[in-house]
Amino acid sequence: MSKFPVEMIRHSAAHVMAAAVQNLYENVRFDIGPATEDGFYYDFDLPVRLAAEDLEKIEDEMKKIINARTPFEMFELTRAEAEKMLREKNQAYKLERLADIPEGEKISFYRTGDFVDLCRGPHVDNAGRIGAFKLMSVAGSYFKGDEKNPMLQRIYGTAFAEKSELADYLRLLEEAKKRDHRKLGTELDLFSFSENVGSGLVLWHPKGAFIRNAFETYWKEQHYLNGYEMLYTPHIGRCELWQTSGHLDFYKDGMYSPMDIDDHDYYVKPMNCPFHIEIYRSRNRSYRELPCRWAELGTVYRYEKSGTLHGLLRARGFTQDDAHIICTPEQIEDEIAEVLRFSLSIWKTFGFTRIQPYLSTRPAKAVGTPERWAKATDSLEKAVHKAGLDCIVDAGGGAFYGPKIDLKVRDAIGREWQTTTIQFDFNLPERFHMTYTGEDGKQHQPYMVHRALFGSIERFFGILIEHYAGAFPLWLAPEQARVLPITDVQIPAARELEAKMKAAGLRVTVDERSQSLGGKIKDARNERLQYMLVIGEREAAEGKVGVRSRREGELGAMDPAALIEKMQKEVIEKVC
Ligand SMILES: [Zn+2]
Ligand SMILES: [Zn+2]
Repeated sequence: MSKFPVEMIRHSAAHVMAAAVQNLYENVRFDIGPATEDGFYYDFDLPVRLAAEDLEKIEDEMKKIINARTPFEMFELTRAEAEKMLREKNQAYKLERLADIPEGEKISFYRTGDFVDLCRGPHVDNAGRIGAFKLMSVAGSYFKGDEKNPMLQRIYGTAFAEKSELADYLRLLEEAKKRDHRKLGTELDLFSFSENVGSGLVLWHPKGAFIRNAFETYWKEQHYLNGYEMLYTPHIGRCELWQTSGHLDFYKDGMYSPMDIDDHDYYVKPMNCPFHIEIYRSRNRSYRELPCRWAELGTVYRYEKSGTLHGLLRARGFTQDDAHIICTPEQIEDEIAEVLRFSLSIWKTFGFTRIQPYLSTRPAKAVGTPERWAKATDSLEKAVHKAGLDCIVDAGGGAFYGPKIDLKVRDAIGREWQTTTIQFDFNLPERFHMTYTGEDGKQHQPYMVHRALFGSIERFFGILIEHYAGAFPLWLAPEQARVLPITDVQIPAARELEAKMKAAGLRVTVDERSQSLGGKIKDARNERLQYMLVIGEREAAEGKVGVRSRREGELGAMDPAALIEKMQKEVIEKVC
């Protein structure tokens, strides 16, 4: 392993790419080239439009710089010197970036061969430290992300210290492409989007809706079992509600335009919280009825920029698996520990066992007393430790209204997904004057915690499709098994088996098409069927069935009763 962190290698690779572009093209104007989570990019203003073929040429030029082990050299200039140099080089974007550097901060440049870049660093000592890299794609990108600014050309790449790491990464990308939920969503007929309906609004097809219903049913059962109660609330609310909650001050850009009803503005809800609070406020509350654990599958609408929409993972209309815990200070520690334990157990059911909590603490500007922040943060930390986990702390990274824990889960191919949020709120109880009568007969402000387990049903479904690569476990699968008669002669025997299995509560169909067994098997495999049940002459005569399991492979001839028992067990145990 190299002694340089991968971010430094990637950012250095961005400089090398810029150096290569400068060597190959005339009149290039440079913006910036940071490292990203899985690589790097650089934004250029070029007189020519780059195509995918140009990336190879740039890669070859980069290899020369890397093979020459070209050093990275730092030098500092005064602001005036820096301005003079950038003006001489006709670097308008760099001049703007220079102006963004606060007065009094040092102004440093890095030289790699003939290329000089305004940069804070740090960098590797020489380009030879970039062990492996690849340029991935080129795309348009507005200067500073603002569509009023000129469109630049952004080249994306990735880099690693070792060749084997790059190979692993490319393999993962390939696997991820095969599992892309948008591709599988179409192939398996699970969901779609329609321009007539609008961007980011999901249409659930029968099979997708079946799976959704199955996990919603499970979600509700588990919540009732764990002491939650269910709520239903409307989709729209009057502007007064959103004024009190503060959404019209802080969140208006994320909300759909209002509609006028009886001379009042009504807004489609972007969140469920104010509705739950109104239920809390519908009468006086005593400490004896706390904690309230109120859950709702609440459908919300948020205006997301069209460029950020991404299938089910980022939609405009989605159903949060929301809950609010409202409790006394004495209860908060146990409540948080319980929320976390519950969340982890649900994730396990779906086969997610590698889970990393992130704790975000008090930022400089915050509402709520320091004592409340300390108690809340402490209860979050204790809950994580109680669950036998360690959290990564983002000091000062909390929202102004309270600390939170986010869970990131790793899927079957090791990708990390941001999912569960357990978020304290010191703001809404204040704004809505939420109180309860304490043991002392006085009014007190309760603690309030927002919690979304999956985030949203849509996003969770997208993650599940990719996690299972479309092959849903038996308890969720719309079609659990397909009977494949080898010829038409076995159709009656196939139907008999189907009827037996249906009577046992299993979801089975018969492929009665006059097609070869090979063709039927291929289709069933493409449709990600967990069980294929083959009936030929011999099976029909012996009253047996040839079983192929997606998970376990060829299981040979089985007695129908034994097969039914096996499948029922898999459903009950939610094997995945
Ligand atoms: Zn740099
Ligand atoms: Zn909430």
